[in-house]
Amino acid sequence: MTGLAAVTLQRFAKLGDISVLGKHIAEGYLTDVSEDVLIKHAADVTARAKAAIGTMYETRRTSDDAFVEMVRTVWSFQYRCPACEKEVVYYEHLDDREKSPETCSSCGIAFVRRAWSRLPGVPVQVIVNGTSGRQQEQTVTEDDRARIAQATILDVVGEYVSEYVFRLARMKTADVASGGRPMVRTGHGLT
Ligand SMILES: [Zn+2]
Repeated sequence: MTGLAAVTLQRFAKLGDISVLGKHIAEGYLTDVSEDVLIKHAADVTARAKAAIGTMYETRRTSDDAFVEMVRTVWSFQYRCPACEKEVVYYEHLDDREKSPETCSSCGIAFVRRAWSRLPGVPVQVIVNGTSGRQQEQTVTEDDRARIAQATILDVVGEYVSEYVFRLARMKTADVASGGRPMVRTGHGLT
């Protein structure tokens, strides 16, 4: 952000300890690409990704049984009781005020987060846009779990993200070749 501020104010700045992610963000802000071309490529990649893997994001909305695109999935920590070895989904044992459980629901020993071994997270809720326009929370179903498992195995989401990044890189190269220069766009917030 310091570098972006310097460019915006047309000042020089000495930067150090720039992370790879920081460099990526700065490049995004400072590279001049055509707004129309960027929107076209983004829409194209998004449409192709939806056609290929869009069903992975589908879920059945409980209020009207319609298949809709999920907004997001909520995951929970999961722990194993050191006494009885019961696997406890943390989210399912929060009280109404979202306070941590005090004991194991199976054997009754005290729940001590640091003393209990952590297991892989599990999906617990799916958020969808409701018929009223407001978002609604639904308990994850077996169908949702199957789709999540399928996405994990195929890793196709990463494939489309990679293509998008590749296209952006190619656009930047084309811009440089045609005399494009680094600049800051402030009008549309596009990077
Ligand atoms: Zn227990």
